[in-house]
Amino acid sequence: MKRRKRFHTKFIFITGGVLSSLGKGLAAASIGALLEARGLRVTFQKLDPYINVDPGTMNPFQHGEVYVTEDGAETDLDLGHYERFTSAQMSAKNNYTSGKIYYSVITKERKGIYLGGTVQIIPHVTDEIKSVILELAGKEVDVAIIEIGGTVGDIESLPFLEAIRQLGYDLGKENALYIHLTYVPYIKTAGELKTKPTQHSVKELRAIGIQPDILLCRTDRFLPPEIKKKIALFCNVEEDAVITAKDVDCIYEIPLIFHQEGLDEKIVEKLNIWTREPDLTPWQDLVKRFKNPKDEVTIAIVGKYVNLKDSYKSLNEALIHGGLANHLRVNLKYVLSDELTPENLGEFFQDVDGILVPGGFGIRGVEGKMLAIKYARERGIPFFGICLGMQLAVVEFARHKLGWKEAHSTEFEPNTPYPVIYLMKEWYDYRKGTRERREEGCDLGGTMRLGAYPCLLAKDSKVYQAYKQNQIYERHRHRYEFNNLYREAFEKAGLRIVGTSPDGELVEIVELEDHPWFVGVQFHPEFKSKPLNPHPLFVDFIRASFERKKA
Ligand code: GLN
Repeated sequence: MKRRKRFHTKFIFITGGVLSSLGKGLAAASIGALLEARGLRVTFQKLDPYINVDPGTMNPFQHGEVYVTEDGAETDLDLGHYERFTSAQMSAKNNYTSGKIYYSVITKERKGIYLGGTVQIIPHVTDEIKSVILELAGKEVDVAIIEIGGTVGDIESLPFLEAIRQLGYDLGKENALYIHLTYVPYIKTAGELKTKPTQHSVKELRAIGIQPDILLCRTDRFLPPEIKKKIALFCNVEEDAVITAKDVDCIYEIPLIFHQEGLDEKIVEKLNIWTREPDLTPWQDLVKRFKNPKDEVTIAIVGKYVNLKDSYKSLNEALIHGGLANHLRVNLKYVLSDELTPENLGEFFQDVDGILVPGGFGIRGVEGKMLAIKYARERGIPFFGICLGMQLAVVEFARHKLGWKEAHSTEFEPNTPYPVIYLMKEWYDYRKGTRERREEGCDLGGTMRLGAYPCLLAKDSKVYQAYKQNQIYERHRHRYEFNNLYREAFEKAGLRIVGTSPDGELVEIVELEDHPWFVGVQFHPEFKSKPLNPHPLFVDFIRASFERKKA
């Protein structure tokens, strides 16, 4: 590895200690927001210690949502935080797992690239890690923020920590900064904040050769000066580099708290970067709106992962963004779809103003979701169907409006006489610029349509009124599509096709005539919503839901 000064890009390495779930991803994203507010251009990378090559096949129960990037990479949900807090655009090169790193080392070994040498963690795996980190450097990036998943002390994360330790040396002091997120619990019985877990965590980090420059201390109150002093002394950091990462009600308040604690000032000082003072008014406005809503709406999310809120991370955020744009608090009511029966629908939905059926895979709960869709359709309740939610809206309409009782998606009933949602045999792929073909009989193994695709909107539609654009780009993650054979029948009966691929072949958006707001989209709009730039469909869905509430 050549030594330093090849790039102008500086690196911040973020590690976590004591326990998981302290909010490392949000801390990284908030640091990015602050640096951007100072006029710097940032990018991010998440390095995940698990062996899966990517999170695409991981169970959302265990791992939370799979975040899809513009270029169609299936990534860790922290990349969603990065995009929501900044203007950085994430892609495949912004998320690596141990699995992906080892895969490429082993592939190189098989190809003989190591010339018969003994392939080892150090230097081969660590060099591979260093090279994917350095890939982020470039003219257009001032600061790259690298988040190491897991907790210091885990066996799995050691190669990553060793790689970033080496990089500190390679890049030089003013080009690499180590920030460590730890936990400072308040112990009620003692009436005291305890610094010991932090001391141990930093000791662990120093044992592998990393001296943190800045400590972010997750806690429920602002740390008093004497506690900061104590932590500074024991952990060998400057007193003003001990930053309170206080619990918040609104995650968009984190950048403001960090700024108040002097974090961004400390970072630019240590990295020796000259910038203007940050302009944080947009974030302040946002938090003000969050804390003083004019009114509220309740949205039911009908899905099967409702017990784990992380499974619908981007969706939850997008709904909150839609609320903020309308000065409304959004109460999310999670409804487990397999608990729904025709008899108990009223119980679940009587107090909701809008119903949303999100994306999903597998047959469990599918019938319950359709009960919810029918309920929304028949009662004029605003309905938003996303991906599987859209597909089921199509199936429900076929069954009950077109009278095709056995209509289904071939994902769930391969032999249905009315395959209104099916695996398309052939289509033009705008991303690859080629015609894609699927083999006869190909089922789950079929490749997914992943990432951003263009979609043309019908001028006289509700979605056009929301987007105010002819052509949009939205992110996909699905195998099945609307079956064009039935297009005319649907349109005649009142389910309009208002968004298609530019060649008209793929149905991307359906909308119900004679309904206040009933929209199904084949894509995942939630991935592109940001608090400072809320997604038009979520803004409009919340607006329509509030209108219904007032009526
Ligand atoms: N299971 C459906 C498909 O593969 C929908 C996927 C989704 O909702 N993301 O097409």
